[in-house]
Amino acid sequence: MSDPLAVLQRIRETRPRRWERAGESCELCCEPIPEEHGHLVDIEARNLMCACRGCYLLFTSEGAGGAHFRSVPDRYRSFPGLELSPLQWDSLQVPVSVAFFFLNSSLGRVAAFYPGPAGATESELPLDTWEEVLEANPELDSIQPDVEAFLVRARPDRGGADCFVVPIDACYELVGHLRRLWRGFDGGREAHDLLDSFFARVRERAR
Ligand SMILES: [Zn+2]
Ligand SMILES: [Zn+2]
Repeated sequence: MSDPLAVLQRIRETRPRRWERAGESCELCCEPIPEEHGHLVDIEARNLMCACRGCYLLFTSEGAGGAHFRSVPDRYRSFPGLELSPLQWDSLQVPVSVAFFFLNSSLGRVAAFYPGPAGATESELPLDTWEEVLEANPELDSIQPDVEAFLVRARPDRGGADCFVVPIDACYELVGHLRRLWRGFDGGREAHDLLDSFFARVRERAR
């Protein structure tokens, strides 16, 4: 229950079966829902659920749904001025160029994940590094626990990193797509193309 990987594993297991298929229904009230719909995080089961508009709205403000469900907000924010030095990136111990971080409220700590052929892998994130990043960038404090993630793509060619706050379901979507395309150690050409177009979309929405 307290394993932060459980959320991602659940998504890995459920995605091929019913994740984001046309004709699905709200997982709370069973109303049919359109292809474009919102999601809830089940805080207790660490699971992501598809929701109709009504159920989604029930759990939008923090605490409205008790501690059980929380709506995944639809906001994208960019942090062009965010400082993440190559040294800090290295100390996050992420072997690939992309990672996302979120506050797991059940564990009371930040979890860091990076994509790969097996889906998402949790990094052994040294907490002092995260504290350093937070201290230098206090605006990151507004990230909502469990439902929003801090998404980073290292750009050593540009001497920095692209940083965004995104809905957590966007991260799961990215991980699911990458898993199918991943080749070799760094993902290969197709994975890089997918990352390029994904980050272009994120940048567009963050405006
Ligand atoms: Zn519903
Ligand atoms: Zn859905």
